[in-house]
Amino acid sequence: MIYLDNHATTRVAPEVLQSMLPYFTEEYGNAASVNHAFGWQAAEAVERAREQIAQRLNCPPDWIVFTSGATEANNLAIKGVINARNPVGRFSKPSEQSTSNMSAGLENRPTKTGAAHFITNAAEHHSVLDVAKRLQRNGIDVTVLPVDRFGQVDPQQVADAIKPETVLVSVMLANNEVGTLNPIVEIGRLCRERDVLLHCDGVQALGKRLIDMPQLPVDLLSLSAHKLHGPKGVGTLVVRRDRRRVPIEPLFDGGGHEQHLRSGTLPVPLIVGFGAACELAADMHAVADRMHLLRDQLWQRLQSELSGLTLNGHPTERLPNNLNVSVDGVDGEALMTSLKNIAVSSGSACSTAEPEPSHVLRAMGVSEPLSRASLRFGLSRYTTEAEIAAAVQEVVAAVTRLRIQR
Ligand code: PMP
Repeated sequence: MIYLDNHATTRVAPEVLQSMLPYFTEEYGNAASVNHAFGWQAAEAVERAREQIAQRLNCPPDWIVFTSGATEANNLAIKGVINARNPVGRFSKPSEQSTSNMSAGLENRPTKTGAAHFITNAAEHHSVLDVAKRLQRNGIDVTVLPVDRFGQVDPQQVADAIKPETVLVSVMLANNEVGTLNPIVEIGRLCRERDVLLHCDGVQALGKRLIDMPQLPVDLLSLSAHKLHGPKGVGTLVVRRDRRRVPIEPLFDGGGHEQHLRSGTLPVPLIVGFGAACELAADMHAVADRMHLLRDQLWQRLQSELSGLTLNGHPTERLPNNLNVSVDGVDGEALMTSLKNIAVSSGSACSTAEPEPSHVLRAMGVSEPLSRASLRFGLSRYTTEAEIAAAVQEVVAAVTRLRIQR
């Protein structure tokens, strides 16, 4: 079985696993235990990992707030900032809403008078979009912007949507289904000019693109270890601290860990693994070049052997390891079940509980049958040329067979 579903998750790198092991069985102290060496060793390991992650982002270590992953980081960023700012008001009449709000499943709901305003877009991960829905149910004013046919957010539309009550904008760096990169620098600049905070889901970009915090006008950044050969169950919310203070209400109350933003005993082995994964990604540019080459080979070979393929996502402004293709003239479900030797995904793995076609492809204007008959390939640093050749063979054989049967 060839694994080409690296947007869903990645294999833990052997060196990452090795770095974690001592912290399960030998150095198993609680990083908050200040009275003995077990605690000191654990705390040291956490701080070392914090530095490794910060180094990858070129930011100070105290910007790193450990969470259980990016779902939590997205929740903390958005609910945290909105809850810190939002005055409790009375519900007013529903305001007029855009069609993209509707397409994202946000109904025309009343907002509270004086409520904070939150802006996001229709191609975000569910851990942003579902937060937006909940906020709206709680009376927050929410705008979900559309994306273009490549899945990109238009910075001008962000600027136009900002109003005096706008507190936060959330736009992802790179999309997890089609790999499209957003013009974050421009969006961030426009937000700063209007004194609005910008949150960014950077999960898919970490280790594939340079994330240079000094150059990136982003106030809050969500990351997850398991997309870059680290363990599942750990991530971070990066909180910018060199400008005005970002007001955040924590989601949990407790021991006051992580600068009072995220109470809970730190998962030391997972954090150590996250640090090691960031260290491993020091060769990111060479790896990205290699993945890019293989990804292009995959696309070229598929196109030379099959007709009726469409590329989903931006032709150039895209992650180097992503290929999302719609296949005309086949049933999506039949295609997935006939691909027995390659692990790929149709739509996002996080939403497979829902039989709905991908909300990202739909937001990009891809028709329902083509959305259903789409394959997402995600390469990793371990993907080989032989695997790409075998994947092409498998897809070509399956599509040809299904088209003949029709
Ligand atoms: N955002 C994006 C873009 C993702 O791809 C994912 C993982 N599918 C998440 C957030 C959620 O991350 P985690 O699994 O760490 O909760």
